[in-house]
Amino acid sequence: MDYKDLANLIFPEAKEISYYEEKYPERNLAEGAIVTRFAPSPTGFVHIGGLYQGLIARKLANQTGGVFFLRVEDTDQKREVENGIVGIVESLKEFGFEPDEGMISENEGKGNYGPYKQSQRKEIYQAYAKYLIEQGKAYPCFCTPEEVEEIRAKQEVAKIRPGYYGVWAKCRNVTVEEAIQRIQSGEKYIIRFKSQGREDRKIKHHDVIKGNVDFPENDQDIVIIKADGLPTYHFAHAIDDHLMRTTHVIRGDEWLSSVPLHLQLFHELGFKAPKYAHIAPIMKNDEGNKRKLSKRKDPEAAVSYYAEEGIPELAVKEYLLNIANSTFENWRRANPDKTIDEFELQLNKMSVSGALFDMVKLLDVSKIVISKMTAEEVYKKSLEWAQKYDKDLETLLQDKEYALKVFGIERGNKKPRKDISKWSDVKENISYMYDEEFEKDGSEYPYQVINDKESIEKILKLYIEKYYDENDDKQTWFDKIKELAGEMGYAKEVKEFKENPGMYKAHVGDVSTVLRVALTKRTNTPDMYEIMQVLGKDRVVRRLGQA
Ligand code: GLU
Repeated sequence: MDYKDLANLIFPEAKEISYYEEKYPERNLAEGAIVTRFAPSPTGFVHIGGLYQGLIARKLANQTGGVFFLRVEDTDQKREVENGIVGIVESLKEFGFEPDEGMISENEGKGNYGPYKQSQRKEIYQAYAKYLIEQGKAYPCFCTPEEVEEIRAKQEVAKIRPGYYGVWAKCRNVTVEEAIQRIQSGEKYIIRFKSQGREDRKIKHHDVIKGNVDFPENDQDIVIIKADGLPTYHFAHAIDDHLMRTTHVIRGDEWLSSVPLHLQLFHELGFKAPKYAHIAPIMKNDEGNKRKLSKRKDPEAAVSYYAEEGIPELAVKEYLLNIANSTFENWRRANPDKTIDEFELQLNKMSVSGALFDMVKLLDVSKIVISKMTAEEVYKKSLEWAQKYDKDLETLLQDKEYALKVFGIERGNKKPRKDISKWSDVKENISYMYDEEFEKDGSEYPYQVINDKESIEKILKLYIEKYYDENDDKQTWFDKIKELAGEMGYAKEVKEFKENPGMYKAHVGDVSTVLRVALTKRTNTPDMYEIMQVLGKDRVVRRLGQA
């Protein structure tokens, strides 16, 4: 009896591996095309770090005329969640990273290299496990979990490296005859890889992001097929990325230390190894300590957070590119009007140790992204957000024509307004343009330099009676405010005021502030001339009178 008999006994139905090698041929792509993937577990939670990986993979495939696919890694069935796949598919869609191939719903995929869900690939893994057994490179292991635990405990006491390897690998030397007999008598088993590696030998590896790294060879007889017949991550990775013809494995750097094992598996299976690019996690500054963004502690770790807050997807993407390549910031400065698709992402310029995530910076990026949108876009997006998350805002936005005027204030020009960084800011930023909201606001008028009742009254009265004309163009409008300032004994120019501070109590800017506060109860608003135009004469006069 030989390895072949053992292999046939264990996987009687498995096909020859040549069947799969032919079924999934080399891809016919141009030189340099990157085939890469996003390979999450369907846990129902999409981490911002996952989205980051997806962005990088999608972009590299685009840049090189390659392929980006979504593979779902559901071999750990304990971690699975209902509708976990749909959540991932939807997130990728929302952010515009739709894969070329891969899962499109819980059970369906598209593309010629599928199935793209590991639990649907059982027979493929078994065929390759059978192939390894036939060559004596894998074997059935009859150790129970308790026995494996016992081994570990002994190693701990003896202060020896833990694991199932060398002399500790009890089933490694079970003869074919004995193995066959134990299987036939119904003993339970799993399949282990028979490692030829040696811990005292080093392998050199070049990672596209991390650079050159040295590791000891792998000598562990790792599990490749578990008791439930499904593969472990390591085995599935080698088979899938080979058969799906992945050129670049872009994944989290928690897998970096598994590279020796993975290279060994590729080698023993007779596969050409892909390139590896291990991405450092997104970090957070937590009271001076740098740590990973945590699903448990940080709401911003969840991709759903950005939708809830109303931070546009484009802003999130733009910000993630900022984190990905430090060259992005300069590129953006030099090319303010280009789309992010035009930015050339470089894997070898990624941070090796983990970039810091900074919400303030993200919101700054978002402000700029929103400032470049048309009033129509801002209207559409804030309405969509409001319909889901803020009924009051939805009501405010009912009158589309008026809302477009409000959003149109200081927009579409060279220096557009930058007061909105997320859709959840919108209500606060526009409420004063709505009479009901303005009336509801019970706060005091926040007058500044000029704050005595008498002067304020005089300014407002004079303005309404003598200077305000809704038909004035902007220059005339401003000249009149200057004149008003002059008439009241304030400096007509800020410069004048600065040169002779003793001569004046205030200047034209302070007069404007009085008008602004009276009209809006705010000290900071977009262009006041435009605000007055949108409010229209009756409302301007009424508000100034009230103030
Ligand atoms: N399913 C693995 C994870 O969730 C994927 C790693 C990889 O991309 O190979 O981390």
